[in-house]
Amino acid sequence: MKTTNLLLISLALLAVSGCKKNNNEETVPQKSAVAKETLYADFSCQMKTVTGGPVTESWGPNNKLWTNGRTIKVRFISGEGTSFVRGKVQQYAKSWESSANLVFQFVADNAAADLTVGFKHNGDAGSWAYVGTDGRGQTQSVNFGWFDNNTSDEEFRRTTTHEFGHVLGLQHEQAHPDANIPWNTDAVYAYYEGSPNFWTKDQIDFNVLWVGPRAGSNLLAYDKSSIMHYPVPARFTTNNVAIAANNTTITATDAAYMKKYYPGK
Ligand SMILES: [Zn+2]
Repeated sequence: MKTTNLLLISLALLAVSGCKKNNNEETVPQKSAVAKETLYADFSCQMKTVTGGPVTESWGPNNKLWTNGRTIKVRFISGEGTSFVRGKVQQYAKSWESSANLVFQFVADNAAADLTVGFKHNGDAGSWAYVGTDGRGQTQSVNFGWFDNNTSDEEFRRTTTHEFGHVLGLQHEQAHPDANIPWNTDAVYAYYEGSPNFWTKDQIDFNVLWVGPRAGSNLLAYDKSSIMHYPVPARFTTNNVAIAANNTTITATDAAYMKKYYPGK
């Protein structure tokens, strides 16, 4: 894909980026009965960026990292999220602190903050986040579209650590230059163009099929178990093999990335 196309796609995403979780449990094999009860099978997510271009997980952009050692102040949008849900977001956001030398300080709703987190803000049922420092000073930096008091702990962990992985500068792992996923592009387009995502072809190209560049990226080895990897159902691949069906935790590679680029822990 040409760089100019990527830039246009990135700009287009500014208005519509979002992560969506779809309640369709038949499309991805489940690891266990527990997982089936507590996780939605389809998880898709878009990143927001201000300037476009690549960012990083075991790969991510090298120009959107926070200053190492920094305290990042986070506030919630007033009136959104129960105290229980807010507590879960704080718990799992801060789970990155064991590997990244940063602190998330959650402040009062009306206090000054670097990041602003909303819950189904203005009816937005997707979950999404700006990548790295692009989230700083935004009217809204992160959205959680499907959390409520009945959400499972595993789902809180999966989605919160994923979104705060973006906050720390991580890119989607399926776009890692070494992912080499044999996409069945017809199936991918057919799925994401439909309900509940209704993505355009450009959005699908950027969020699902795009292979990121090595230049400008911080790269560790591709990690198919990364919390930043979309679940890829078997029908989305030409060899009919599912990838990352139930990634719900920070992996050793995810942690290694943080320790390398936010050293000190
Ligand atoms: Zn995402």
